[in-house]
Amino acid sequence: MAAAPLLDPAWTTWDVVIVGAGPAGAATAITLANCGQRVLLVEKRGSPSFKLGESLPPASIGLVRHFLGDPESPDQQLPGLFRTAGNIALWGNEQAEITDFFFTPTGHGLCVDRLAFDEALCTKAIAAGATLLRDVRFQSCTRIESGNFNWQLTLTSRAGIRQVRARYLVDCSGRQAVVARMLGVPRLYQGDRLFAYAQWFSCSGGDDDRYTRIEATPHGWWYSNRLPGSGGNETRRLVVLHTDKDLPAARLAASRQGFDQLLDGSTHIALLLKARGYRSCGSIRGAPAHSQRLRDFCGDAWMAVGDAAQAYDPLSSQGIDKALRTASHAGHMIHYALTDSSQGATGLDGRNPYIHRYDQEQHRLWQAFSSQRNFYYGVQTRWSDQVFWQRRRQPANESSQFSTDETEPGGNGAI
Ligand SMILES: Cc1cc2nc3c(=O)[nH]c(=O)nc-3n(C[C@H](O)[C@H](O)[C@H](O)COP(=O)(O)OP(=O)(O)OC[C@H]3O[C@@H](n4cnc5c(N)ncnc54)[C@H](O)[C@@H]3O)c2cc1C
Repeated sequence: MAAAPLLDPAWTTWDVVIVGAGPAGAATAITLANCGQRVLLVEKRGSPSFKLGESLPPASIGLVRHFLGDPESPDQQLPGLFRTAGNIALWGNEQAEITDFFFTPTGHGLCVDRLAFDEALCTKAIAAGATLLRDVRFQSCTRIESGNFNWQLTLTSRAGIRQVRARYLVDCSGRQAVVARMLGVPRLYQGDRLFAYAQWFSCSGGDDDRYTRIEATPHGWWYSNRLPGSGGNETRRLVVLHTDKDLPAARLAASRQGFDQLLDGSTHIALLLKARGYRSCGSIRGAPAHSQRLRDFCGDAWMAVGDAAQAYDPLSSQGIDKALRTASHAGHMIHYALTDSSQGATGLDGRNPYIHRYDQEQHRLWQAFSSQRNFYYGVQTRWSDQVFWQRRRQPANESSQFSTDETEPGGNGAI
């Protein structure tokens, strides 16, 4: 028997409902709540066990401070966060190229415990006045015209079904883009099937490495970071292989033995692990890493922010920065759209000047990312006989995109 809707009036009407409490959702909630909007943030997960993506470039430090205050303050409870010194990449050839963060305005990047980082942003959203519901899943939405309200949403949890109304709806559900897809907006792919296979390592000998290590190999590319928050004498490190999900290397990478075999083919990261006495621990986990964007970034009384709007190949290392930056922009534009009718901003669709501005910025960001991606894959000209690299030698552009969720590269699933 279906559970009865929970109909507490104090919980049923909101200015803005945000689906997904990752960095994009939490930062959009902070921005809107600080502007005085009544915000409901809905997160389907209770307590996630892992999340990939832990390094922030120097350009993100100001943004992190904007949302979290001083990330290095003990109040933040970001366990073991450390300053990073740069990237060491063996990309276009066997020569290690160092990008040194010392020569940037902040002088360093950051490596964060990702679960703690996302949690800190949620805590700030609650402190700003947003309401966070965890373990609650966005199920569906219906466009309504009822007084001030434009949406009726159905949310599900173990406690039952809850129906809420909102003036504006924000999709921050990550690559799944659950709201946009429910509204019939397709995701567009760049033709790659990139998938990330991650293995954790630990050692007891200590490791003070502050560089992100990147290495191209015939079947794909690797990155490795020492992780913050290691307990006692133990140091943890993450090693990730990116390859296309339909290639034989992907099948190998999904097992520990196969992963080790592929890792032996790396010259730089494998040596580093051996030299410091690292041993693998836990099972291989995986996540989609292909580039994708929505056909439409916003529509009538809704918009997508963060990975839901556009998700990048992790080579860019821009995901968290983009989530926070565009969340600030989105939050302000939604607030102005909801409150200002002086510029002919009567509707809440793409003709509203504030929503239009957000839409244009999203298009600009996608163009910038696409050319950067083409550039970096263009300079790696080795292994012309390997399918992984052959695929990346054809520059991705608008016409090479394809859509539909039946053809989602590699499927949704993490492993
Ligand atoms: C292998 C890999 C390495 C990466 N490395 C880096 C890195 O070093 N630096 C960097 O900046 N970025 C990195 N990224 C990218 C970065 O992790 C993402 O860009 C970032 O998490 C995007 O934030 P988001 O809030 O948009 O989405 P997410 O963090 O994916 O959050 C979306 C949230 O929505 C929730 N949700 C989904 N569906 C529903 C629903 N139906 N109802 C309610 N809630 C829902 C999910 O549970 C999730 O919490 C990496 C990504 C990968 C795959």
